[in-house]
Amino acid sequence: MLEQLYQDVSRDVAKILDRALSGAELDSSDALRLLGAQGADLQALCRAADVARSDDNGGDVSFVVCRNINFTNVCYVGCSFCGFSRHRDEEDAYDRSLPQILEKCRDAVARGATEVCIQGGIDPHKDHEDYRDILLGIRKEFPSLHIHAYSPEEIDFGHEKSGMPLDAYLKWLMAAGLGTIPGTAAEILDDEVRRVLAPNKLMTARWREIVSTAHRVGLRSTATIMYGHIEKPRHVVSHFELVREIQKETGGFTEFVPLGFIHEKNLLGQVKFSRPGPSAGEDLKLIALARLFFRPWITNIQMSWVKMGPKLAQMALLAGANDMGGTLMEESISRESGADHGENLPPEEMRRLIREVGRTPVERNTRYQILRRFDDPEKDPPSLEPKARPELAGPRRFRSEASVVRVQQHGPS
Ligand code: SF4
Repeated sequence: MLEQLYQDVSRDVAKILDRALSGAELDSSDALRLLGAQGADLQALCRAADVARSDDNGGDVSFVVCRNINFTNVCYVGCSFCGFSRHRDEEDAYDRSLPQILEKCRDAVARGATEVCIQGGIDPHKDHEDYRDILLGIRKEFPSLHIHAYSPEEIDFGHEKSGMPLDAYLKWLMAAGLGTIPGTAAEILDDEVRRVLAPNKLMTARWREIVSTAHRVGLRSTATIMYGHIEKPRHVVSHFELVREIQKETGGFTEFVPLGFIHEKNLLGQVKFSRPGPSAGEDLKLIALARLFFRPWITNIQMSWVKMGPKLAQMALLAGANDMGGTLMEESISRESGADHGENLPPEEMRRLIREVGRTPVERNTRYQILRRFDDPEKDPPSLEPKARPELAGPRRFRSEASVVRVQQHGPS
């Protein structure tokens, strides 16, 4: 019977998976081969990644209660995949004041948030002091709220404006309250692709310099990849290799997060002959490959429920992912743009999705320390979500749509 289950798996794929499970490090040719996996090979890859996930993380699936706060959507960088940015004179351009940001923090804390994620567009009228003032303002009112803020693109911009050495600039932000940084603005860490996606954005060497320096001064970060557009498998592999190389040097990445490209409302998806985002199989393949390729260097593999939707997110938990990411909580962006949905997956929904695939939900902080375990559903805490939110009514409502995705993808990226 078992033989029947595995007889269709290619011999070379089986050998690579076997080596990965025995603890050997995969190389670029292994990764390229696995990226080509289809059918039984893909199923075997997902199964192997699930076994590795079980070895690395056991049966826990973590999530963080957090809020995304985008302080401005004014940006002039012009990335082709971005549907978020606006020019200053556009009707729906915004620039949130510190009191508005603090009000959002207040609401987040009332709803159980331990983290706020602060990112914005690159507005040439702002500078390093604007970035610092947001940190100072939040820290003053919420000294224990973790501030996860500023993509490498924003760090690059603020650093240029500051005139300080990079490490001094990062320490200056840390002294103002910066806790960790998002590893966004990565897209594909290969300049051949970056020159098409976002020629005005920082290139690979600068991304590496900023992230490595951040790690060295004590700031940890996430690592991301945006796939499913114009990249080829070799670009994905070189991205994976670079991230692993940095992690070997610094140990500063908390997790790896594959982000599938959303093509509907941006230039790249419409005119540059990009693929219309990844297939479900490709989403699972990236998660599974990340699990096998990065072990033992990065053992937290996060799926994006915003990109995948809840059901595929559950499948990702069966293909190597051990983290559901953040509840996000921010819904004003989609409401302001007239959408029916928002971006919020409350903790009770997180727990339900996790339990439905037979895992145990645990709430973590940004640095992956476990804050609470939820072994017994009968003892779950009551919801902290505001009662008068009809859009949350019913046990299975889930809210996510393109305008939400724009925020992550933009990201501010
Ligand atoms: S992805 Fe970020 S940097 Fe690029 S245009 Fe959008 S907001 Fe600006």
